[in-house]
Amino acid sequence: MTLRPIVLYPDPVLRRVALPVAEIDAGMKSLAADMIETMYHAKGRGLAAPQVGLSLRLFVMDCGWKEGPKNPRVFFNPEILAASPNLATNTEGCLSIPDVPTQVERPDWVLMGWTDEAGTRHEERFTGFEAVAAQHELDHLNGRLCIDLVAPAQREATRLLLERLET
Ligand code: ZN
Repeated sequence: MTLRPIVLYPDPVLRRVALPVAEIDAGMKSLAADMIETMYHAKGRGLAAPQVGLSLRLFVMDCGWKEGPKNPRVFFNPEILAASPNLATNTEGCLSIPDVPTQVERPDWVLMGWTDEAGTRHEERFTGFEAVAAQHELDHLNGRLCIDLVAPAQREATRLLLERLET
């Protein structure tokens, strides 16, 4: 496994709509393994392929590894099949936008469908922090970032923090 450099905002790859993964071959499995290693090394709980510079519909996630055993999961071609009508606000961070915490409102559960690294299709309802992380990572595959979703009251403060990264 190889650590991959994490792409930082405002790199344009973070704004691209990523392409579906046509075949989960050895190269894709190896990429997913690298992304898991890179996520742990960066002390993150999720990492999407555009964040390592590849515009592909793939992310990895492990929400509980800091509190318990590691349980990395790989999501190829993920999609949201249903979402809660109820919204919840959480603080989100992004490995590509260091030191810019954002308050983001999202559905408090989502039903997600995806294919894992063995080619098995899954459907699972995510709640709590897993719901937040899964939606944050899926947004990356559509060129959307948590800074796009900040509450109006926080927008000016976020803009000032981003100026530092943009120059
Ligand atoms: Zn992110």
